[in-house]
Amino acid sequence: MDRMVWDAHADVLWRTAAQRLDFYQLSSPLSAGWHRLRQGGVRVQGFPLFVPPDRPAGEGWNLLLDQLALFHDRIVSDGSKVTPLCYREDVANVGRTGPVRGLLCLEGCYALEGSVERLSLCMHLGVRVVGLTWNEANGLADGVGEPRGGGLTSLGRRFIKEIWRRSGVVDVAHLGEAAFWDVIREARGPVICTHAGMKAVWPHRRNLSDGQLRALAESGGVVGLAFVPAFLGPRGRFEDLLLHVDHALEVVGDRHVAFGSDFDGTEEPLEGLETASQYPALERALNTRFGAETARRLLWDNWRDLFARTLPQKPADNAASAR
Ligand SMILES: [Zn+2]
Repeated sequence: MDRMVWDAHADVLWRTAAQRLDFYQLSSPLSAGWHRLRQGGVRVQGFPLFVPPDRPAGEGWNLLLDQLALFHDRIVSDGSKVTPLCYREDVANVGRTGPVRGLLCLEGCYALEGSVERLSLCMHLGVRVVGLTWNEANGLADGVGEPRGGGLTSLGRRFIKEIWRRSGVVDVAHLGEAAFWDVIREARGPVICTHAGMKAVWPHRRNLSDGQLRALAESGGVVGLAFVPAFLGPRGRFEDLLLHVDHALEVVGDRHVAFGSDFDGTEEPLEGLETASQYPALERALNTRFGAETARRLLWDNWRDLFARTLPQKPADNAASAR
C-alpha cells in the first residue's frame, strides 16, 4: 500500500469508553477502530481526550483519566499495534509498516478545572495538542457557542504559555473568534485547527473564515478539514468536502491544509466517507481533482512537517549517557 494518512482527530477514546467498545474487535462499530485504520492506510491518528462540559466537577477529571488509561493500557498495550507519538524523532520513524502512531490531544480543558498542574500532568502522559474549549465557555476562554464572544482569560493565557513551554501545539477548533485572535496575537509558533470547515463555503459556526485560515497559515499552522456533514453544506455530501478543500487551497495553497476526520465524534457520518477504511476513495478524488502531489501533502506531508518541527525532542537517556 502506497498511501499514508495522518488524521488529526477522531473521537475513538470517547466513543470506546462511553459505549464500552473494543478498539481491536473486527466487527467493532467504531469508524476509526484498528481494522479500519489499517484498511485506510492511516499511519498516525490523533486521539483526543474528550469530556462533555456538563459533567460535574471531579467526574470530568475521572472520565479523562479513564480515557488516558484506555489509550495507554488497552490501545497501546504492548506497543505492537499502536504506539504513542510524542517526540519529533518519532515522526521521522513512522513508516508504511509497523505500529500505527497515536497522537494524544485534549479536546477542551473542562476536566482540568483550571489547574495548570493537571495540564502539565497530561502533557507528561503524552498529550501534545491542546484545545482550550469545546463549544461552551470555560474559565480559559469562550467557545464558538458562547454568545458573549469573550477572548482569552488571564488563566487561558497561562495555559497557552504552559502548552508552548512544553512544546505542545494549541488547537483552535471549537474556540470562539475573539479567543482565536487572542491566541494568534500571543503565538510565537504554529497554531493549528484539527477539525473544521471553511466558512466561505458554508457558514457553520465551527468553520473558519478566510481571515482565520490566513492567520493560521501565517503562523506556520495547518487546518484539518473535517468529514462532518453539518460543516460541509446544506446536504453535507462528499462532493461538498472537495469544495472546502478547493477553497482552502485557493486561500492558502497546499502546505497548510490537511484532514481531521472527526470520526466517532459526529452523529451522522458523511456518505461515502463513513469510516477510516474509505480513505482510498478520498485519495482517488483528491488525485483526480488536485493531482497526486497535492493529495499526498493533504493526506500526509503537511501534518508530518508541522509535528516534525513542533514536537519536543526526545530527552537524552541519562542511564545510557552515564555508562
Ligand atoms: Zn470536536
